[in-house]
Amino acid sequence: MPVLIIGAGISGLLLAQRLRQEAIPFRVFERDADLTTRGAGWGLTLHWSLPALRSLLPDHLTQRLPEAYVDRTAVTKGASSSFPFFDLSTGELKAKTPQASESQRIRVSREGLRHLLATDINIEWEKSLAGAVFEPDSATAVFEDGSSIKGSLIVACDGAQSPARRILFPSQWETYKIPVRMLGVKLLLSPDQMQSIHEKDTFFLQGTASSNDSFVYISEIPDTNEEKRQFIHTLAKTWAEPFRTLALNIPVDEDIKHLTPQDFVPPRDLRTSGRAVLMGDAFHAMAMYRGEGANHAIVDVVDFVDRAIPLLREPQDFNTLRGALDDYEDAVIKRARPAICLLTLNLPVFEEYLMEYEAAKYRAPTMVNKTQQNAKPYI
Ligand SMILES: Cc1cc2nc3c(=O)[nH]c(=O)nc-3n(C[C@H](O)[C@H](O)[C@H](O)COP(=O)(O)OP(=O)(O)OC[C@H]3O[C@@H](n4cnc5c(N)ncnc54)[C@H](O)[C@@H]3O)c2cc1C
Repeated sequence: MPVLIIGAGISGLLLAQRLRQEAIPFRVFERDADLTTRGAGWGLTLHWSLPALRSLLPDHLTQRLPEAYVDRTAVTKGASSSFPFFDLSTGELKAKTPQASESQRIRVSREGLRHLLATDINIEWEKSLAGAVFEPDSATAVFEDGSSIKGSLIVACDGAQSPARRILFPSQWETYKIPVRMLGVKLLLSPDQMQSIHEKDTFFLQGTASSNDSFVYISEIPDTNEEKRQFIHTLAKTWAEPFRTLALNIPVDEDIKHLTPQDFVPPRDLRTSGRAVLMGDAFHAMAMYRGEGANHAIVDVVDFVDRAIPLLREPQDFNTLRGALDDYEDAVIKRARPAICLLTLNLPVFEEYLMEYEAAKYRAPTMVNKTQQNAKPYI
């Protein structure tokens, strides 16, 4: 029976690539009609997960990774991002990271990466998971179109709003809506208009405005597109060049998206029970400004294949398989939970984490894992 992968995002497609190499049967089901249904998407910085990504892909796809770079020409010339952070009011550079080589850090478009990962994978489109039925020797995925498909295991890679999480944990699935309001707009700029931005960094830059403290007072986002545009204008009038012109020139008809950052901190004891596991954002959604969600999703795949692949080659009794899935879930929660907790604005969860962290420190220092040792809670 095939492994049923729900969601053709980063983790789902990467897992499919690995299972394909291992000749383990699988099927991939995706809610959307194709890879571009929801627009081009965003850029992703991949850093600490790069060795994992390369280890999961066949050589010919690893070599094609540059196809997904946001600016392949710049990389060829040896450029790399230093993630500069500006005071938008003065234009002053406030901070930047050391440059990193292509082997240590890359910036890819999510769309480009998905296209690459979809190579040779048969994705079954417009198959939206609606339910699941588990038996000791099988898992059945039920779809919104009324069809159902039986497999050896359901791996739910269905993103931050994961319907699978809702099905598996009816009372624990909800994300925390982070009280930060964000607007996203895509601008098409001419090479001349881009030049001043490119001079600052070819790949990526960010900043806050010291004169109007934008981060703090963006607490309410206007409803209509025109009101959103005017709101951005109000903020941008105090900014220095080139940021000011960039924001003031947002075309009237450009759709300004309202983004709602959310997170899902998996409780320490969150464990699936039947033949199912969560993976990627479905397991541990985190705010995009953490810049790590995809990195964790990629390493989830490694943690899963290391434990489960030996058992998926032939039918296994439920308890043996479940033991491997429990190990996988332990590993993911240990790694991803501190990452989200250190950034969440969900104060009860943050406080609970601090207590865990403190307790671990005093209980047995030698058992504190590396992530916890390095973690410096900011309060
Ligand atoms: C603006 C922004 C910037 C980001 N920048 C970074 C960054 O720099 N670095 C980084 O590491 N991370 C970044 N992230 C986070 C990163 O995009 C996610 O963590 C990553 O895409 C998660 O991968 P995934 O496989 O878990 O889910 P996704 O890639 O979201 O894929 C989920 C898939 O499941 C499908 N699906 C949903 N419901 C169903 C259903 N019912 N049935 C079937 N299929 C379904 C969806 O259509 C989708 O294709 C950023 C996120 C945003 C929004």
